[in-house]
Amino acid sequence: MPADDLLHGAGIDLAGLGQLVTDFIEQRLHHAPLGRTVTPAFVDRALRAEALGDVITDEGLGVATAWKTFRRAVVPNTIAIDSERFLAFIPMAPSAASVWMDAAVSAASFAAESWMESGGAVAAENQVLTMLASAAGLPPRAGGCFMSGGSIGNLSALAVARANAGGRPFVAVADTAHASVKNSLDLLGLQPLIVPTAADARMTAAALRAVIDGRDDVGIVVAAGGSTNAGIIDELSGIADVAAHIGAWFHVDGAYGAAALLLPELRSAFDGIERADSFIVDPHKWLFAPAGSCALIYRNPALAAAVHTQHGPYVDVLHDADEASLNPCDFGFQLTRRASGLPLWFALAVHGIEAHRQAIRAGIDLARRAADRLAATPGVELVIRPQLGVVLFRRDGWGANEWRSWATRLLAEGVAFGAPSTFRGAAVGRLVFMHPLTTDSIIDEIIASLSSSTPAGGV
Ligand SMILES: *Cc1c(COP(=O)(O)O)cnc(C)c1O
Repeated sequence: MPADDLLHGAGIDLAGLGQLVTDFIEQRLHHAPLGRTVTPAFVDRALRAEALGDVITDEGLGVATAWKTFRRAVVPNTIAIDSERFLAFIPMAPSAASVWMDAAVSAASFAAESWMESGGAVAAENQVLTMLASAAGLPPRAGGCFMSGGSIGNLSALAVARANAGGRPFVAVADTAHASVKNSLDLLGLQPLIVPTAADARMTAAALRAVIDGRDDVGIVVAAGGSTNAGIIDELSGIADVAAHIGAWFHVDGAYGAAALLLPELRSAFDGIERADSFIVDPHKWLFAPAGSCALIYRNPALAAAVHTQHGPYVDVLHDADEASLNPCDFGFQLTRRASGLPLWFALAVHGIEAHRQAIRAGIDLARRAADRLAATPGVELVIRPQLGVVLFRRDGWGANEWRSWATRLLAEGVAFGAPSTFRGAAVGRLVFMHPLTTDSIIDEIIASLSSSTPAGGV
């Protein structure tokens, strides 16, 4: 019997840590305090103050001090992306059921890369992929895997696209595409061919045609099913026509917005996605799962396996059994993988799809109400009518500095965390609605902050 292992087993003394963590999770699900942004030096001092010195030592601090350091120095010095007052970037609003299942996934270390190891987890995750693929209108053989996020999802899909682009190095992509698309192209040695969008921020088939006219070197077309900055869905059906015409791979980046295709009233805005060769949607965005989850789906998963299957003496055994059952690790650039689709699978199993639709709809309704109110505020003007959950707006006389101090003030007053943005080079306000518990009174507080005088610190 090994006598000196202090890390494992039923007998170790963790001074009630299980209860501390359970209480923490319960409180957090009840309410996520907005938190604050801090400098590295500030938080380093805070960590040391709680630990009375170094945190990481040879001997360890023990449960009580380590937990106190986490609670007092880590938690409050972090912005709560899961707060109903977090309206920046793309928020997260994980459902309670998905959070608890995420904890269970951690406890069991589901290494869900293969059927051999994790048939149960893989089958459950695949039910979610099938639901999403079928809602998008892809054929039954469509499939893929869950990855850690949209960036690696885009990279993995575009690697497969490259292998099927017939050696054509150019990728037609809107000027509104997410930054991870550009970075993926750089990593893959592909060249972006930028398709300009007009005032409505929507990539159209006509603009795409104009850009590729006369060229024979475009092998991939990328469109957004909900762009990040303005939340606009590109003209997917016309773009699919063009891609088909030139025999290009058609990838739809739906990391943020494609969850909204589950809503019958928005389904037609996504028409054309059923012709995608690949698409992604992040459960950790608008499907209310915790951080670390992207659904990556291919029309023909075998094409992905030809690119991503890893070979070696220690992994070939994963493929011995049955070539027909491809593994999650064959579809993206990741071998060991957390079963990051299980939290969503569980929440869907518990609550059903309709509860998720309702929660998505709540964000869209909030965005529309906020847009109406902003449009009616003197000196404020909408940049664009929201199509999903993003609201972009201008205020007379405000530039980058004013928007920055406005955001600082909102956070300092505990009203909201918002991050200014730009639209066509000009500074704008940007709010993203996703958390169903964001209230109209929060919108009121934000509108009031826009109306009240010049922001402190404005130049
Ligand atoms: C968020 C986002 C990404 C990147 O996803 P991560 O999960 O943050 O890596 C890619 N594309 C779009 C459209 C996004 O909104």
